Amino acid sequence: MIHSAGITVTPVHVGDLAGVDLPIYVHLIDHPAGRVLVDTGLTERHPAVADLDPQLHPLSEQDLDLASVDMVVNTHLHFDHCGGNHLFSGTPIYVQRQELDDARQQDDYTIREWVDPPGATAAYVPVDGEFTLLPGVRLVPAPGHTRGSQIVVIETDHGPIVIAGDTAVFAGELDDPQTEGQRLIRALEPGLVWMSHQREPWRPAR
Ligand SMILES: [Zn+2]
Repeated sequence: MIHSAGITVTPVHVGDLAGVDLPIYVHLIDHPAGRVLVDTGLTERHPAVADLDPQLHPLSEQDLDLASVDMVVNTHLHFDHCGGNHLFSGTPIYVQRQELDDARQQDDYTIREWVDPPGATAAYVPVDGEFTLLPGVRLVPAPGHTRGSQIVVIETDHGPIVIAGDTAVFAGELDDPQTEGQRLIRALEPGLVWMSHQREPWRPAR
């Protein structure tokens, strides 16, 4: 989808959590100054999440040149958002420092070996608060789903586009925002909000 100033956002379906009937999407931002991948899905199954019955369409088996990705953003580090990080060894991965600390230190937070794959060098760039990634593209902390969650905000002529990760899992949550992160998204007056587990973006009521 072309938004403005040559920036496009493309949702990529990387699997499903069949056990809870939710698709998993990552989002590719093509910007004149670089290509950004927001979240990485997952590439394998794991006993710790067998009850969610993940079905896989990993990035490594799609028509996407992984080497064309200049930077990766993790909205947060739950397993279904960082399970493809190992495909991007050496590529900078922007994540809030709080999120990285929690994922590395708290038990049962995520699948830790997907955050720090053995033998691979995950080039995390810990971010403290708001951060401008590219002109018109910034990272904004959005606590709620996790305390270290962040969203990606893309400025356009028609209001910002937001890539929300799991700050809202269901579109209806943005109609009646409850968490700090959800209220922040609404306060931005976005034209469009992409979510990790919804096929269609949320749009404000006219
Ligand atoms: Zn998720």
